Amino acid sequence: MNKQRKLIIAGNWKMNKTVAESLALVRGLKIELANIKEVDIVICPPFTALSEVSKAVIDSNIRLGAQNMSENGYGAFTGEIAGGMLKEFSCRYVILGHSERRQFQKESDELISKKAQAAHANSLKPIVCVGETLAEREGNKTEQVLETQVKGSLAGLTKEQMVETVVAYEPVWAIGTGKTATTAQAQEAHAFIRKQLVGLFDENVAKRVRIQYGGSVKPANARELMEQPDVDGALVGGASLDARSFCVFIKNSI
Ligand code: PEP
Repeated sequence: MNKQRKLIIAGNWKMNKTVAESLALVRGLKIELANIKEVDIVICPPFTALSEVSKAVIDSNIRLGAQNMSENGYGAFTGEIAGGMLKEFSCRYVILGHSERRQFQKESDELISKKAQAAHANSLKPIVCVGETLAEREGNKTEQVLETQVKGSLAGLTKEQMVETVVAYEPVWAIGTGKTATTAQAQEAHAFIRKQLVGLFDENVAKRVRIQYGGSVKPANARELMEQPDVDGALVGGASLDARSFCVFIKNSI
């Protein structure tokens, strides 16, 4: 598939996998994905597995990401993880503002923008998640919600930082529910997000930013989604927990 931007497909393992299970999964991914050059492949294990997984992916085409980080540097922040700590495990990416954190940890756009700035200060590429709830979609508020989240969560980033930031469009009603947005709904939302990036940054930046789709993606709908002009990859939850489904998803995307 000839895409304007290189695809980026990231697996969000959420609060799953022991260290031993993580290593078993990585073993399978390394074998199956060794020859893939067309896609930036990222896995985001839980913090507890980062150390071992970072060793396991050395010399592979699989990059490491974390699922969250603190907006602060080192210091008296009990239970938090600083960007510098993630760099110790060779993390290159960090998921920020996932809807589960927005919902359960009450993360605001303002906090997410601080985290995104802290990520860049540590040379980590943030994957910033945005997306509307079912009630918001049904109330015709999708664009309003996306506009607010994009503007708020990406505030304070320079143009150079924005180009190195990934946006993940994840309609909340599609996450873990088995309901995927139609390709038309995904494309429409992605094009809208890109239009916001033109206004907030400029045309050149907007053209270079990769926008992932997330929400119950599976091998069967990979190709159709990736064929949409503004869909530049996927953030994969459930289907990334199994080597076979994640690998087939990636192979079906190209
Ligand atoms: C996610 O949590 O980012 C996600 C997209 O999950 P799932 O693929 O399981 O819907």
